[in-house]
Amino acid sequence: MSCNNCGHAGSFVLLVDLAALVTLDAPANSGASPDAEPDDRCRQREWSLTARCPACDSTDVAVDATTLLSRAAATRS
Ligand SMILES: [Zn+2]
Repeated sequence: MSCNNCGHAGSFVLLVDLAALVTLDAPANSGASPDAEPDDRCRQREWSLTARCPACDSTDVAVDATTLLSRAAATRS
């Protein structure tokens, strides 16, 4: 696990990007089944995980972001 740009290793920044399209002028509970249109609801929320080098701010790192996320979850105090 190291940065492909500067060679930094050891610790990396985990970026979590979440975007949600929220409709405010419709009732929260329209009576429809919550599982009615899962595809449409999925398209209104997008999220991504990115690993970034803290030394050079490059995202070209040989680190799996999901590995960082599981490590962060396991080491939180
Ligand atoms: Zn770097």
